[in-house]
Amino acid sequence: MTKTIYVDNAATTAMSDRAIEAMKPYLKEIYGNPSSLHGVGQRAKEELESARAAVAACLGAERGEIYFTSGGSEADNQAIRSAAYNGAAKGKRHLISTNFEHHAVLHTLKKLEGERFEVTYLPVDQNGLITPAQVDEAIRPDTALVTVMYANNEVGTILPIRDIGAVCRRRKVPFHTDAVQAVGHIPVDVVADNIDMLSLSAHKFHGPKGVGVLYCKKSLPLRTFIEGGAQEKGKRAGTENLAGICSMAAALQEAIAHLYENMAKEELLRDMLIDGLSIIPHSKLNGDRVKRLPGNVNMCFEGIEGESLLLLLDQKGICASSGSACTSGSLDPSHVLLALGLKHEVAHGSLRLSLCPDNTEEEMKYIIDGVKEVVSYLRSISPVWEELEKGQRPHLI
Ligand SMILES: *Cc1c(COP(=O)(O)O)cnc(C)c1O
Repeated sequence: MTKTIYVDNAATTAMSDRAIEAMKPYLKEIYGNPSSLHGVGQRAKEELESARAAVAACLGAERGEIYFTSGGSEADNQAIRSAAYNGAAKGKRHLISTNFEHHAVLHTLKKLEGERFEVTYLPVDQNGLITPAQVDEAIRPDTALVTVMYANNEVGTILPIRDIGAVCRRRKVPFHTDAVQAVGHIPVDVVADNIDMLSLSAHKFHGPKGVGVLYCKKSLPLRTFIEGGAQEKGKRAGTENLAGICSMAAALQEAIAHLYENMAKEELLRDMLIDGLSIIPHSKLNGDRVKRLPGNVNMCFEGIEGESLLLLLDQKGICASSGSACTSGSLDPSHVLLALGLKHEVAHGSLRLSLCPDNTEEEMKYIIDGVKEVVSYLRSISPVWEELEKGQRPHLI
């Protein structure tokens, strides 16, 4: 049996021991419904509120500004729809975003376009960056929301959120950021970063799946997303996922406590991979080399089919991705790589390796050797590569 090397942490992470331990009491001992008035319920309510305070402290927010959700997708949906409908009530039906957001954002915006909203998708540059000036220029008197992701899940680019937030504040437009890939991985502070609404998800930082947070600044009205009860101040009905919420709070506290040492560790491994894989001829790193998540590597290898690369790596025990989990399985190239200006042929040969602090230097060496071997094998049997090598078609990278 080959050992499994998991380098797909942008898709999801393993739960940490601390997150698992933090969950246990709520499965049996503290099982109450936080809405019940009796002692068992009130005990649960206390735990719920202390988890809320812990999450708030990790983000620089206030306890009352934290709304628990079922994850990042739900938080994105609620934030965007809430701001859109609040804007529409004042005659503002214009929204601003980028062309390389997560589908939870893009598909929500597409739906709103069908509801007579107009969306400006700012084009990112070849590294996946937009400038605050682009946002400033796009804002109109009828702009209801700017939503820009904190860090991209495929290519790892970290956007200039603090400066974009400052523009939005000056122009008095609500600003939402999908920070699912950022929180727990790089410093995020809603006050310092001028953020009005933020989405995060526990399973991206070694917490459980199916639980997340929408932060909404207290001065900003939040619309109810799920009807049916008074939970989450009436904004999101449903008996709270107490075990998941308390486990998420523990995972987040743990991630923040070790943030800088984890970043340094991941950066070291990431740079080993980038240096080792860049030696492969006609390869290219996607995303910004510097403004980059500590654990993200995304590369293209010309003449390679991403799916075949993944399958052969899997046979070597390497669990990686071609991009986002949501697009894998479909044959369309990633919208993120196309937004960076990559040609379809090149975008098809992409590989994303996303690290966690538990990965090791030995694993990186194994991955580098494995990718080199698989890439040269696939090229040796590829008619496209033969044409490229014979000069019958030009190399694109
Ligand atoms: C994973 C992810 C989401 C979705 O979060 P879920 O909790 O899985 O719904 C949204 N945005 C980004 C950037 C992500 O990486």
